[in-house]
Amino acid sequence: MRRAMFYKSLGEKSVQCELCPHFCTIGEGSRGLCRMRFNKKGILQAQNYGRSIVFALDPIEKKPLYHFFPGSRILSLGPNSCNLSCFFCQNFQSSQFDCPTHELSPEDLKDYLLAHLLNQVAFTYTEPLTWYEYIYDFSCLCQSEGIRIVLVSNGYINPEPIKIIARAVSAMNIDLKAFDDSFYRTYCKGSLNPVLATIRFVYEAGIHLEITNLLIPGLNDDQTTIGKLIDFLASLDPDIPLHFSAYHPAFKAKIASTPASVVQNACQMAKEKLKHVYAGNCSVPEFQDTYCPGCGRVLVSRSNYALQNVMNKSNTCPHCGTEIYGVFS
Ligand code: SF4
Repeated sequence: MRRAMFYKSLGEKSVQCELCPHFCTIGEGSRGLCRMRFNKKGILQAQNYGRSIVFALDPIEKKPLYHFFPGSRILSLGPNSCNLSCFFCQNFQSSQFDCPTHELSPEDLKDYLLAHLLNQVAFTYTEPLTWYEYIYDFSCLCQSEGIRIVLVSNGYINPEPIKIIARAVSAMNIDLKAFDDSFYRTYCKGSLNPVLATIRFVYEAGIHLEITNLLIPGLNDDQTTIGKLIDFLASLDPDIPLHFSAYHPAFKAKIASTPASVVQNACQMAKEKLKHVYAGNCSVPEFQDTYCPGCGRVLVSRSNYALQNVMNKSNTCPHCGTEIYGVFS
């Protein structure tokens, strides 16, 4: 355990956590909603510090990040906690319940990366921002090592903590669950505006950003909700890549899987206003590859994580010179 950052004492050994918009009030001997911030005698402790549910070497496309060193591999790990409780959570065994973990200190993680000549690490799978202190300490150790830090997050964090950790982060994929506050409140036990604020901040901070939206039949796949999400991203920057992903029944959700046609329709809608749109978790071949928005030619073709990348180091299309959002080599 490590003493948590971002909390205040309320007296009588009670504390308020200020890491995320839940602002949990936590009495002595209790935990916050994310289950891993524990009040021990009036001191808030990060109980999940350095404890990972998994260590895996993944293709970066699996995060998903399609415009950030495509074809590279990234060491991936994540905590046993989340600050949302989505009833459809695709990783509910580890995000919502205690499960076995392995310990790796920030020093050990840095040594492992250097020993294996790996230069990027993703904090992912559950909600990495509930692992704030671990990522923060690791980032302090790695400042001069050239290690890229990637976060795959729900974006449900307060402005001050994201501002501080963002200085160490190279790329993020943020899961925007629906452009609908009542969806967040009913199905995720959160709210929309803090997520939008994080997306805006991350983009304006110059961190590489991609967005994922999991489409769930009957809940967030209507044209109005999808249209609002597309308009929000287009107003921020039509270059930001958007990944529509098919849901499959998990945790408390019994709704049938999202048909590929629903994902395809959402992608077609988004293509009217956004330059880079992708389909995930289902087969929609026309939305797997990266196309040049200038000349329309394929720049990165993908098939089951095997890919061909014709981009050059200047991040411009080799055919027509159009600048492409991202970092390609
Ligand atoms: S990070 Fe956890 S303990 Fe802190 S406010 Fe959010 S849910 Fe509550």
